[in-house]
Amino acid sequence: MKKDLLGNSVFQMAAEQFDRVADFLELDERVRERCKWPKRVITVSLPVTMDDGRTEVFFGHRVQHHLSRGPVKGGLRFHPNVDVGEVAALAMWMNWKCALMGLPFGGGKGGIACDPRAMSLGEQERLTRRFAQEISPFIGPEIDVMAPDVGTNAQHMAWILDTYSTREGRFVPEVITGKPLELQGSQGRNEATGYGVAFLVTQALQKLSLPIEGSSAIVQGFGNVGSHAVATMNRYGIQVRGVSDISGAVWNAQGLDTDALQKHVAHNGGVAGFPGGEAIDSEELLLQRCDVLVPAALERVITQENASKLNCRILAEAANGPTTPCADAIIEERGDIFLIPDVLCNAGGVTVSYFEWVQNLQRFSWTKQEVLSKLENKLNEAFENLLEFCHQRQCGHRLGALATGVDLVAQVKQTRGLFP
Ligand code: GLU
Repeated sequence: MKKDLLGNSVFQMAAEQFDRVADFLELDERVRERCKWPKRVITVSLPVTMDDGRTEVFFGHRVQHHLSRGPVKGGLRFHPNVDVGEVAALAMWMNWKCALMGLPFGGGKGGIACDPRAMSLGEQERLTRRFAQEISPFIGPEIDVMAPDVGTNAQHMAWILDTYSTREGRFVPEVITGKPLELQGSQGRNEATGYGVAFLVTQALQKLSLPIEGSSAIVQGFGNVGSHAVATMNRYGIQVRGVSDISGAVWNAQGLDTDALQKHVAHNGGVAGFPGGEAIDSEELLLQRCDVLVPAALERVITQENASKLNCRILAEAANGPTTPCADAIIEERGDIFLIPDVLCNAGGVTVSYFEWVQNLQRFSWTKQEVLSKLENKLNEAFENLLEFCHQRQCGHRLGALATGVDLVAQVKQTRGLFP
């Protein structure tokens, strides 16, 4: 298993980051190994009847990194490139994220290798329900609580809720988060990740004594996270000059009309062809001058090749794992980029998921204002603690954020002891 996981470049990256943190913390060798490897790696085959009558077999994975601090928490991703190594890396990052944010969860992640853009809604429903059915023995409100991630949304969560609840013979909203409001989803959950990214950007701008209003941003990725980050930054008065997605990239030096862009994407499926800006190469977009660069898509887009050419003051990692360790080293060496590391930057999603789970367990609901103000408090506290930790320990933001998370998990494992 160790060899299989390390054969994947994303897992290798998460493991490399972990090793660096473990060295920094001088973790005891025994607890170090326990923290590094996932507790459960589950793969299921998923036969699905396609619209043309064929039976296609997909593979779905769920990795539960550890259960030492509470149930496992993390998203379920639908993407053609999903494999077990990537899912295991994302599960490991969820650990450190939950611990850093002080949430009572271990990290988990799920993924199904499929292309939802090429599937009908019916095919997606059958695939999601089959996965929920196969994974049901391994999930539950006190065991593993899934949520949306790349390629999934509230509708997928509703199908999982329905499948699980039908199996249990009762309504179990607390088995899943990021679900529709009418199924006891939480106010604010849909926009939480992007909202949190934009909020932290304003905190970072303030730390750098830069004005919020009129500062400029570029966003790579216009899915749930990227589009809400854009909308919220726009509300703060931050000018979004460039946006890219799978269809291409658009640029307007005077700032894009983000409402019009949103409508264009809803009609055309992507940002390409947006009349309010000019087309630009997606790789080139990352190198344009701006105050804030927000990678909000997949892993490993800031690399050894482009890290030295970035032209931003703040790198706000809305995606999980967008910066490779080599690029990290270059950015640290440069010293002119304020990094908001992924485990903090995109933690708004899982934090409101935690609020959703708490509301469900109490059969009670909070207003949107309550949710967002609780979210801001949590993010602000984690942000200030991180800056303080980095100042005390004289380390970069990536190392500081991961070290805070890893340290808590290691302490918990140490205190609980090793059984038998
Ligand atoms: N998929 C999101 C993440 O990567 C949210 C997870 C959750 O809400 O449990 O953080």
